[in-house]
Amino acid sequence: MDICIYNRLESLFQVRGYGDVVMKVKTFPKGIHPKDQKSATRDKAFEDAPRAELIVLPLQQSAGVASEPLVKVRDTVLAGQKIAEAGAFISAPLHTPVSGTVKAIQLRPHHMGLKLMSIVIQPDEEQQWVELKPGPKDPDPEYIRNAVREAGIVGLGGAAFPTGVKIAPPPEMKVDTVIINGCECEPYLTVDHRQMVENASAIVDGLALMVKAVGATRGMIGVEDNKPEAIEAIKKATAETDFKVVVLETKYPQGAEKQLIHAALGREVPSGALPGHVGVLVQNVGTAAAVSAAVREGRPLIRRAVTVSGSGIKEPKNLVVDIGTPVKDLVEYCGGLSDGAAKVIIGGPMMGVAVTSLDIPVVKATSGVIALSRDELTEMDYQPCIKCARCVEVCPMGLMPNRLSVMSEIQVWDEMKGEHLFDCVECGSCSFVCPSNRPLVQQIRLGKYELKKDRT
Ligand code: SF4
Ligand code: SF4
Repeated sequence: MDICIYNRLESLFQVRGYGDVVMKVKTFPKGIHPKDQKSATRDKAFEDAPRAELIVLPLQQSAGVASEPLVKVRDTVLAGQKIAEAGAFISAPLHTPVSGTVKAIQLRPHHMGLKLMSIVIQPDEEQQWVELKPGPKDPDPEYIRNAVREAGIVGLGGAAFPTGVKIAPPPEMKVDTVIINGCECEPYLTVDHRQMVENASAIVDGLALMVKAVGATRGMIGVEDNKPEAIEAIKKATAETDFKVVVLETKYPQGAEKQLIHAALGREVPSGALPGHVGVLVQNVGTAAAVSAAVREGRPLIRRAVTVSGSGIKEPKNLVVDIGTPVKDLVEYCGGLSDGAAKVIIGGPMMGVAVTSLDIPVVKATSGVIALSRDELTEMDYQPCIKCARCVEVCPMGLMPNRLSVMSEIQVWDEMKGEHLFDCVECGSCSFVCPSNRPLVQQIRLGKYELKKDRT
């Protein structure tokens, strides 16, 4: 295990060797260096996954409030049609990726372990589309914000915060810089890498549109230095622009918003504040490409890229998938699970969620389906804390996960607030290094849940 510990003053640059070339790459304090495990899919170009026999679209597809159905059972729908309206300000509308018939609106399993109200659509053969309305050549900020909101775009890096809300910051948040996040620091995942290699000009166009939407003065794209092909593609696509490509050290969690802002700009987002409070908007590369498609072509978010990988998958691939496709279809398309497969995770292995059934749909937030074999997993009960402080040394938010863990065990929820519980970005770095195998991030999540529950 390679653990990296820096103090704050030393953290902005690391000197790296690339053959004969030595260059400085930016980074943030602390963090870890898990193996990147990307070689199985790094060079796999996107393939279209086959259309599913049944599409299941949970109404909760974003942070915030679930959307509200606009269709009823037996309605016929066209591909790209809006089938649910945003349920509140922090919410996003939902569109169908297929034409067909609404078979049911019912509770269906979701990867978070709950059953969520979902619209179930039986695709037809025709795949007829709604009429898409391309945007004007030079859209104004209001047009961009509306088009993005109407397209149901959410952050595709995993957080699924509605992009329409993010690019309409309140007046007190003066955004001067938009950063496109091309770090993809989670092991195994390579969809962002492929987006940069295959769709660099759409990403740069999305960046230009978001810079305009928020009235920023500059745009940049941050990419980790384990993606030289992506860096080259993005540099080429930005050659005629003022946008800057920032090369960052490959370190986890480089792609977390606050760590990216620290590394790229040297700005620290204070405890409890948002990136907008320090003048920054961060968006994922896939989100930027979706923004371009929404504004230029009027295309809603109905498909997304998913890495299917891990030693438990027979033929790892990068797929472009209809949202609502069952995860089991993707696994089958990739040759199925290998004999040693022991655990399937939705998302990356650091922040993803382990699932017990593959009969769950791809949602807007699904960046990966990772199957791990038994020999990659640690099977050990967790032990008492031995006070080694490794978790403290790696926590990128400067927290004391060991203390939070013990507080969670003895259920002193209010005291956890004093330890800045809500600053935890749930990156899992602490759990990763803990020699006692303590479920630190799970205990912290439990504390957040208990405190939020008391508020409602
Ligand atoms: S306490 Fe939270 S932010 Fe810190 S390492 Fe653990 S999961 Fe990451
Ligand atoms: S890494 Fe684990 S054992 Fe070490 S101090 Fe943190 S919680 Fe305790």
